[in-house]
Amino acid sequence: MRKILVTGGLGYIGSHTVVELLEQNFEVVIVDDLSNSKQWILDRIKKITNKEPKWYNVDLKNSENLNLVFEENKIDGIIHFAAYKAVGESQQKPVEYYENNIIGLLNLLKCTQKYDVKSFIFSSSCTVYGQADELPITENAPLKKPESVYGKTKQFGEEIISDVASISNFNTILLRYFNPIGAHPSALIGELPLGIPNNLIPFVTQTAAGIRKELSIFGNDYPTLDGTAIRDYIYVVDLAKAHIKGLTRLLNNENSSNIEIYNLGTGKGSSVKEVVDAFENANNLKVNYKYAPRREGDITSAYADASLAKEQLNWEAKTSLEECLRTAWNWQKTL
Ligand code: UDP
Repeated sequence: MRKILVTGGLGYIGSHTVVELLEQNFEVVIVDDLSNSKQWILDRIKKITNKEPKWYNVDLKNSENLNLVFEENKIDGIIHFAAYKAVGESQQKPVEYYENNIIGLLNLLKCTQKYDVKSFIFSSSCTVYGQADELPITENAPLKKPESVYGKTKQFGEEIISDVASISNFNTILLRYFNPIGAHPSALIGELPLGIPNNLIPFVTQTAAGIRKELSIFGNDYPTLDGTAIRDYIYVVDLAKAHIKGLTRLLNNENSSNIEIYNLGTGKGSSVKEVVDAFENANNLKVNYKYAPRREGDITSAYADASLAKEQLNWEAKTSLEECLRTAWNWQKTL
């Protein structure tokens, strides 16, 4: 059985990926310091899979403790999620963001060298493209200077990993996610936003639940059909499955280069207004909303050309927007 280290394995995308790994019979070791997750997610993972991943409450910045994880476990591959991810907060706390996201990554990369781990999946983001000149966005689109410190940590992360891969026998896949949404069909795991949600879907579900009074749709003067901004919303379980495909490709030496990059999206753009309408239809309820000024740093439109992942990873997003939004609401109702 292959042993996979998942950093941030109790977080939103991490926990869904751990479930998929366990269901595909990988052995899983989670490193998560609970900085943006809860310990009970571990019990939920066990409940869904009937399997028990090992968990270390270790902060990646603590190199000594991280080394212990590798001493105690012969790791075959790594999926690296652990990072701070709030765009707005990253502008207020640049030092903390760089320290956490970059030092954490460097410590992990040191361990890959010391303990000879050759397969590495990195959780990146479509923010690296900024407002792309052409849509849909392919992996060859030029990278733009990110608007936020968070975005910069993802871009720097990609570069650091690529530099390591270019001088060593180290194989990596950089996965650039579009907008992950939804929750596991069991409604046992899902997104747990801290405080007031920044992201659209948790704000919508909390508004529907009466926790927030009203959703603000940021901008209705964008040059789009209904004036609201367009994103590519991808189901978190579909996204999780792409990680298993990528990892398996690396473990089986099927990769064609030691750095591969894939966009993970549906290929379809949806406007904020369309998302709100789809949420209302899928769940047969109404969401209070108003139009508000544009949010600083937001772009007009981003959606993926995900054909490379289909060709090379034999992966594609399968779940409809409405189905995603049903799972998001089912999860919200449990909270
Ligand atoms: N959005 C919104 N109201 C909210 C949160 C988000 O209108 O309360 C919009 C946001 O301006 C963007 C889209 O929803 O156009 C997706 O935003 P999110 O923060 O979820 O993801 P991003 O694409 O910014 O990473």
